[in-house]
Amino acid sequence: MNTYQKRTAVLLLSFFVYLSLPARIFPAPLKGRGVWANPRDAGQTEASVAAFAEQLAAAHINTVIMEFKSSGGLSWPSRKFPEAVLPAYRNFDLPAILIRECHKRSIAVHAWFFDFAEGADSFVAKTHPEWRALSPAGKPTSDEILRGSPYRMSWMCPARRPGYTDQWLIPVIAEFVEMYEVDAIHHDYVRYPGDLAPDTYCFCDYCLQHLPEYAYYLSPTFPEKPLLPAAFDRPHLEAHWEKSSRILPSNWDQYSREMKSRFLLTGSSFPGGNHDLDYFFYEYRIHYVLEFVRQVYETVKKIRPNIEVSAAVFKNPLQSGRFIGQDWRRFAPWVHYAMPMDYRSHFSGDHETYLALLAETVRLQKAWAQDFAHLWIGVATIGIYDEERQPLQRLMRLMRDESSPPAALSADFGLVANKIRPVNPELHAALAKFLENGQDRAAVRQKLEEFLANLPASYVPPEKFVRTLQAVRDQQAEGIVIFSAGGLRSAGLWEAVGKFFSSSQ
Ligand SMILES: [Zn+2]
Repeated sequence: MNTYQKRTAVLLLSFFVYLSLPARIFPAPLKGRGVWANPRDAGQTEASVAAFAEQLAAAHINTVIMEFKSSGGLSWPSRKFPEAVLPAYRNFDLPAILIRECHKRSIAVHAWFFDFAEGADSFVAKTHPEWRALSPAGKPTSDEILRGSPYRMSWMCPARRPGYTDQWLIPVIAEFVEMYEVDAIHHDYVRYPGDLAPDTYCFCDYCLQHLPEYAYYLSPTFPEKPLLPAAFDRPHLEAHWEKSSRILPSNWDQYSREMKSRFLLTGSSFPGGNHDLDYFFYEYRIHYVLEFVRQVYETVKKIRPNIEVSAAVFKNPLQSGRFIGQDWRRFAPWVHYAMPMDYRSHFSGDHETYLALLAETVRLQKAWAQDFAHLWIGVATIGIYDEERQPLQRLMRLMRDESSPPAALSADFGLVANKIRPVNPELHAALAKFLENGQDRAAVRQKLEEFLANLPASYVPPEKFVRTLQAVRDQQAEGIVIFSAGGLRSAGLWEAVGKFFSSSQ
């Protein structure tokens, strides 16, 4: 071998060594570096919006998902729906300024819509109560109690036509896209309610009437005829399904709402057969969520052909299909970016367990999202510091309750004592002393309050959140979206995230 050949061989060899290095050492660049944000994060002056965009740019964020329709109302000066605009945005054009400032810095803006979640007192829920989703008792979700408190949200029925979907939500989204050069629209709450009983909605008048039509539970041509097979000539009851089109009981019209709801959810295709009608109930819900996603895509593409669509979805589409009508695998033709919310609060176990489950989940999501152009993984600051925060919050509650004895604090103090001591020895000593003698409650409480209000980085280390981002990156994810801008601020994580994104490009 001459020198030239030797050099070529060495070069080739290094190239193959480089190729065979684990992806961990040379991962692909992180194309998506996003954050979900609330209008409050951007403030209400041109200068504050520009400063917000500058902060995003400094943290190497290239996509901001800004909430423009919450459960309370709209955050832009809507011309067609002025009654639904939140007061602060009647005269302040946040989308126009945000889009301008972000585009100057090459940051894409996705407009985030709360789809089917409306506040109990929102303009549309009050003006059109008949569009709300109803339980078998005929009650809206706002009548539910969740963890001891009123639920406050009025979920709207996704299926009803004419109704909330075609008369309100799609026109609202269309107006936004007509008014603003936004890069994408973003679906959230694109589902049925799941934190309440997942089988309770929707049994509104429309769904009671329409679900049996959708699932073809009787022939509209022969509504009185049972239309059963001539002979039940097979050993298995359900084997006669194909010729059996009448599923509703003959006295269906006399059934109450509760009886109809129960039949549609727990009834059988054949009297005495399997309780299989829930299949059609879940399929009906999935169908109408998909129908909405399709109609939105077609509507916005007509207005702005280059526009894209993204969606915040639950982590497992098989389960969310069953429980909340959100089988997001089937969104792919009408949604470009799947953004599963893989938040720690959606998993069980400690942080280490979460990191392992997160890695496993991302691997599964790559298969579930195979038909999407993009899969960007959603992670949240919420829950990351539960171990550090929750014992302090419980201590605070006990300190506020004058009747609780000092000894009641010992378990929670035990959980955090070793973490507090090096960071704030004075607070550690004060708490330890209070546990001993029960004196100076007010002074100790104030020290604790001050500590909680501004937790130092040495107590809530940014590395813990960065490890979460790294766990996603190790799975070669195309993008990461962080919930949320406000969460990053309150946990003091902007700088750490900026560093991580900077090294991930
Ligand atoms: Zn309904």
